[in-house]
Amino acid sequence: MEQVPCAGCSTFFIPRNKFQIFCSKPCCQRIRKTLWQKQKLATDPEYKEEQRLAQKKWLQNNPDYWKDYRRRHPEKADRNRSLQKIRNMKNRRDQIIYKSSKNIGIAKMDSRKPRGYKLSGQYWLVPAVAKIDAVKIFITSVPVNSP
Ligand SMILES: [Zn+2]
Repeated sequence: MEQVPCAGCSTFFIPRNKFQIFCSKPCCQRIRKTLWQKQKLATDPEYKEEQRLAQKKWLQNNPDYWKDYRRRHPEKADRNRSLQKIRNMKNRRDQIIYKSSKNIGIAKMDSRKPRGYKLSGQYWLVPAVAKIDAVKIFITSVPVNSP
């Protein structure tokens, strides 16, 4: 059979059959399996439920896994905390939009009040539409009188 480029690493390899598009390198096989599982979860509700139960059972047998993970990877825990804040803000905004859409009558055009947020700190810029990676940014307050 003729050599073809791997869908994972673009290296040319000889496939075992015409359906094989990933080479045998472990990293490419991991990609293949991840894609397969993603597709399987999206199309097979029974498989999805089995996976959910298996994960639940595994977590019951390893109750400290996430606690240990956060301790071993503080930067990931930090990132997740930032992303959760964003998700919470989105949920709150959606709830406000939902509640206000149920109100019939007078709309308060500008009911926002300044809350005196302290903006300084580390944040994640998360694209809302495009599927690209989040970017970590730093925001520092600058005194009004500074040059
Ligand atoms: Zn490959």
